[in-house]
Amino acid sequence: MENEDKEECIFCEELVDIHDVECPHCGKKPFSGMYLNPKTYDNADQMEKDCDIKGAWKLLHDEYRQHTDIEYFDEETAGILHDYLEALYTRHAELLVVEKIDLLLGGLQIGAYWGHYDDSLVEQAIELAQSVERPDLELKILENHRSNQQALSKGYGPFDSDNLDQRIQELKNILSSN
Ligand SMILES: [Zn+2]
Repeated sequence: MENEDKEECIFCEELVDIHDVECPHCGKKPFSGMYLNPKTYDNADQMEKDCDIKGAWKLLHDEYRQHTDIEYFDEETAGILHDYLEALYTRHAELLVVEKIDLLLGGLQIGAYWGHYDDSLVEQAIELAQSVERPDLELKILENHRSNQQALSKGYGPFDSDNLDQRIQELKNILSSN
């Protein structure tokens, strides 16, 4: 039972002693939540009680972003932080529309990177932008969506749609000049 006190490092998936605070294989902190300040949730609760809603959001959202970094993706902790953000939004929706859109855009970008893109989040974000009459945000959402689509299509070959259009035009030019 040599592996009894070992668990997989969430970053490199090598087995690591559960008491280790640094993975001997990849040098990162090997287990979920080890990069999170344990007081984060209490601090966010306190800020909310003090009516600093945007401050509480920023604290949780900054941590969420760090835990969804491509290099340091801690799915479990990110999920908990995401639940906290959703709950905070539910309690203070009118104050946090722009922040919520930002969270949705972040989720879409992550989805595009990992190949599970959820179009319904785009619709949700657009509805929110329209509800507060922010065409600038609606444009930002659509531009983000387009670049996510291009990132996704790169997984299926060398041509995203723009490159493809461009190459087709080049070939037409070459053929017509002969
Ligand atoms: Zn590791």
